[in-house]
Amino acid sequence: MLSLLERWVNKIAIVTGASSGIGAAIAQKLVQGGLIVVGIARHVEVIQTISEKLKNAKGKLHPFKADVTKENDILALFEFVKTKLGPVHVLVNNAGIARSTNLSNGDTSKWKEILDTNVLGPCIATREAIRVMKKHSIQGQIIHISSILGHYVGVNIPFLNMYPASKFAIRALTETLRQEFVAEKVPIRVCTISPGFTDTEIIKPLSQYKGNASFAKAFEETPKLKSEDIADAVVYILSTPHHVQIQDIMIRPLGERF
Ligand code: NDP
Repeated sequence: MLSLLERWVNKIAIVTGASSGIGAAIAQKLVQGGLIVVGIARHVEVIQTISEKLKNAKGKLHPFKADVTKENDILALFEFVKTKLGPVHVLVNNAGIARSTNLSNGDTSKWKEILDTNVLGPCIATREAIRVMKKHSIQGQIIHISSILGHYVGVNIPFLNMYPASKFAIRALTETLRQEFVAEKVPIRVCTISPGFTDTEIIKPLSQYKGNASFAKAFEETPKLKSEDIADAVVYILSTPHHVQIQDIMIRPLGERF
C-alpha cells in the first residue's frame, strides 16, 4: 500500500491535528511512505513521541506547535516549513473539534470555537499552501477532513449544534476552491474525505452521554472505523495519477447505525 506513495517520497506534507486519532494515523502512514511530514497540534509533545517511534521510517515527522484558530500560528508554521524544509506539496486539514452545546439555547463561544477550528483554520492554511504551490508550480494536493455529518444531519445524535454546519461548509469550500482552480488553470487538486464514526477522542463525550438511553445503547453497539482506515484513503488519493480529481470519499463502518 505504501509503495503507492512513491511519487511523493521526500516531498513535504503538512498534517493538522497530528497529535491524536485520524491525524496521527495519517502522519504516520505518510512518514512510513517516505514523505517529510510536519505534524501540527497544540499538544506538540505527543507528536514528538510519535516522531521518535518513527525514527527508522522512510520519511520523517517534524512536530510543530500551532493552534489552527490563531492565524499567526498558521503563518509561523508556513514560514518554518518554507525556510527550514522547502515548499509544501500536500496539506491535510484534519484538526477538528466538537463541543457540547445546542443551537436553541447554546453558547456562542463554543459555536465560534467550532467554526474557527473546523472552517476558518483550514481556509487560512489552504490559502498559505496554495501561495507556495503556485510560486513553485507544484502539482499539489489539498485534503480536507469533513464527515458523514457534512452530508446529512444525523438523527438523534446529541450536541450536534454547529458541527454538521462546519462539515457541510468544508465540502462547499472544496468545490468552490476546485472551481477557482479550474478558472485559473491551477494544477492543484482538492478533495474531501467524509468519515463515519471513527474510534477516536472526539467521540468520547458521546460514549459517556447519559441523557438518552436509547442513543447511548445504539452508539455503543454501532460499529466504528479505525483511524488507519481514513489514513488509507489519504494514501489512495495521493496514489492516483494527477489527472484524477477525487472530490469526496465517504467512508462508513460496515453496519453503521446513524
Ligand atoms: P481527535 O479528537 O482524536 O483529534 C483531533 C485533533 O485535532 C487532535 O490532534 C487535536 O490536537 C487537533 N486540534 C483540535 N483543535 C486544534 C487547534 N485549535 N489547533 C490545532 N490542532 C487542533 O479526533 P479525530 O481524530 O476523530 O478528528 C480528526 C478529524 O476527523 C476532525 O476534523 C473530525 O471532525 C473528523 N471526523 C471525525 C470522526 C470521528 O468519528 N472520529 C468522524 C468524521 C469526521 P491538540 O488537541 O493537541 O491541539
